Amino acid sequence: VKTSPIKTVNPFNNELVKSFDVMTAAQIESKIALADKAFQSWRKTPKAKRAQLLHRVAHLLRVKAAQLAELATLEMGKLFKESQGEVALCADIFEYYATNGEKFLADQPLETPHGSAFLSYEPLGVILSIQPWNFPFYQITRSAAPHLMAGNTMLLKHASNIPQCAQIMEDIFLEAGFPEGVYQNLFIPGSETDVLVADERIKAVTFTGSEPAGSSIAAAAGKYIKKSTLELGGSDAFVVLDDADVEQAAEAAVRGRIWNAGQVCVSPKRIIVEEGIADLFLEKVKAKFAALKVGDPMDEKTDLAPLSSEKAVNDVIKQVQTAVEQGATVITGGHRINRPGAFMEPTILADIRPGTAAYQEEIFGPVFMFYKVKDEQAAIDLANATEFGLGGSVFSSNNERAVNVARQMVTGMVYINHVTGIAPELPFGGTKHSGYGREQSPAAIYEFVNAKLIRVT
Ligand code: NAP
Repeated sequence: VKTSPIKTVNPFNNELVKSFDVMTAAQIESKIALADKAFQSWRKTPKAKRAQLLHRVAHLLRVKAAQLAELATLEMGKLFKESQGEVALCADIFEYYATNGEKFLADQPLETPHGSAFLSYEPLGVILSIQPWNFPFYQITRSAAPHLMAGNTMLLKHASNIPQCAQIMEDIFLEAGFPEGVYQNLFIPGSETDVLVADERIKAVTFTGSEPAGSSIAAAAGKYIKKSTLELGGSDAFVVLDDADVEQAAEAAVRGRIWNAGQVCVSPKRIIVEEGIADLFLEKVKAKFAALKVGDPMDEKTDLAPLSSEKAVNDVIKQVQTAVEQGATVITGGHRINRPGAFMEPTILADIRPGTAAYQEEIFGPVFMFYKVKDEQAAIDLANATEFGLGGSVFSSNNERAVNVARQMVTGMVYINHVTGIAPELPFGGTKHSGYGREQSPAAIYEFVNAKLIRVT
């Protein structure tokens, strides 16, 4: 019997909770048709009305925060307190676009000696959004809030391991009063999304996830001349300069790395420390790792949650083993934790050499790759010695020095004395193989609009 890939499996105890049927071709067709039909009226709905509905979604997210947070923790294992934080962030993002969307989308006058001219921002149509499981609600929010505000409609294909989170968001949009078809959830496997991109009613695709899947979806979009945004993997450098507050840096690194059990595209993955303070920094990180409380993600006192699935923990273990076979040293950790559930020891790898897998790959779990470097320039060179270019951090007590280093890092974001963060008003996105396009901030709302020039003579 073929089982559906779309199911809830609790990674804390590996119990299969619920399974969902993959939608049939006929069901998908009727959803695309409805999304296209809904676009014809949604695009003409006054922006103030769209904003009002976004405000209502924000309100519902706050009212239902506990229920939503529990679902996220059940389906992908993150700490309940982190799930609550995620839902609150989503409400903030909806409110940000509800409050500022009209202003962002207002006609923009252009200076010209030829009569008068302005840009009119017009929605494109149905947007296909393909999202990963690591932030079940935030990933939906950051694509839905700006693009729906802009007058597009959306088909959401979420990761197959978080179907209940995916479904409840559609329910929330409807409860908030969104017209039918403006936002719909699709239950289909990732491997079957290429055909959707080919459909002429789908005008663009926004993808967050791994590099291979992103490349494949962008190729499909390119073939049909459709715009895409890609938010892919990252291997963020966390640069600690020799004048940094070592305690503050070590605390930030550890909290950043264990957040979401290490499954964050922008967690600090490569720790790069100037040699004068490297040993002290490492000792502090080791001590903080040893003090972490591993356990039930619903328990307020737990620091380290399980990974999202058996496959996720096995993949990370395999990467660590390969790193060791290729000459890396395990400073601490390196194994599964001997208890039920997808738990992984907090791990530090050192002696990772250029040309080895770990030197290039993203490790999506609570694993640090630790590098000691001789000076600032070596830190910059190493930070840039990756195909990824998502976020990054610089720790220093001298802001001018830190900003100078930040300018030389080839990434989409650098945070000084902080791990790469997320805020509604700040752009999020990368460069190089981490993708292209921006989420959040004013920038996101312009990704899927036609900035149409109208000139009046
Ligand atoms: P993934 O396998 O690429 O899955 C992400 C989404 O793409 C899922 O909905 C998946 O559906 C779908 N998918 C899988 N194969 C596909 C294909 N060939 N064509 C189209 N869609 C496909 O990603 P993951 O490994 O689960 O997620 C973790 C990755 O996401 C990490 O690399 C992480 O860094 C990255 N990420 C990046 C950001 C960012 O903002 N840059 C944010 C979060 C995560 P199924 O579940 O049905 O396979």
